[in-house]
Amino acid sequence: MTPPQPTSLTSLLAENIEITPVQISAQTQINWDVARLDLIHPVISGNKLFKLHYNLQDYNTYPYKALVTFGGAWSNHLVATAYACQLEGIPAIGIVRGEAPQQWSHTLLQCQSYGMTLYFIPRSLYATPEAALQHLQLHTPQYFIIPEGGNNEAGTLGAAHIASHISGFTKYTHIVCAAGTGTTLRGLSHAATPTQHIIGIPVLKIPPNDQAVFQQVISTSPNLTLLFNYARGGYAKHDSDLVHFMNQFYLHYGIPTDIVYTGKAAMAVADLIRQNHFPTHSRILLFHTGGLQGNRSLPPNMLHF
Ligand SMILES: *Cc1c(COP(=O)(O)O)cnc(C)c1O
Repeated sequence: MTPPQPTSLTSLLAENIEITPVQISAQTQINWDVARLDLIHPVISGNKLFKLHYNLQDYNTYPYKALVTFGGAWSNHLVATAYACQLEGIPAIGIVRGEAPQQWSHTLLQCQSYGMTLYFIPRSLYATPEAALQHLQLHTPQYFIIPEGGNNEAGTLGAAHIASHISGFTKYTHIVCAAGTGTTLRGLSHAATPTQHIIGIPVLKIPPNDQAVFQQVISTSPNLTLLFNYARGGYAKHDSDLVHFMNQFYLHYGIPTDIVYTGKAAMAVADLIRQNHFPTHSRILLFHTGGLQGNRSLPPNMLHF
């Protein structure tokens, strides 16, 4: 796939985000829209462009040698960073958890094709990101380090910026978004008004004892609620119900979702509507945060899109 070449990242950010209306049932009188961050760009899709935006600006404030970040073999963040850095002429280093695989994932091959230098760090040496950096002798201030998932202040600021690209953002009563690191949710909860409900769907399995801490790390804002029971077994875990839902969702509304994040978030909204979680006349906005490239990890024909 050769993505269209935008003139700059800033030009991508200037666009308004397309909204696709979704109607589950006329009887509920509940209006459900999807904010299509997946349509921004095929590689730097979704929330990743926003989380990178201010980080790339910060990079340019000092003569760093390279930008360094982290991810797994199917990381949307890693491939978005690789592409964005190529576009901006920034040397990029990606640190990948685990031994180098015999067969590189599509994601890693793409990162490499965008000029990112990849280092594979065995899990024994990747106990913490700091340990991995130490091992590779990548020290600040020469190297600009972005934590996994773009989870830093610049990332949060960029995520908050998403709201200003949604026309009529404040008319929505409920805003739903999948959560990995929770950076995007934190940003959205900063951007929302106190009366808007922000609902986060963590896609990692968080044991009940750790849930309060997980919430605290993301945000203690009273407008944010995390619903932990839609992770379906944990990160990147999927089952036939999820796959069936994703295929049906595409069939009815023409919206492709990904197996790790947006499929689970969309399924959560459908389930919450079914359970009458939302009051009548609610206006729900689900963020489609992109990530469709991750579906390439699935066997062919599993998804009908
Ligand atoms: C990275 C990612 C997320 C999670 O974003 P966080 O800010 O880490 O919570 C959600 N959806 C998709 C598609 C992603 O790629």
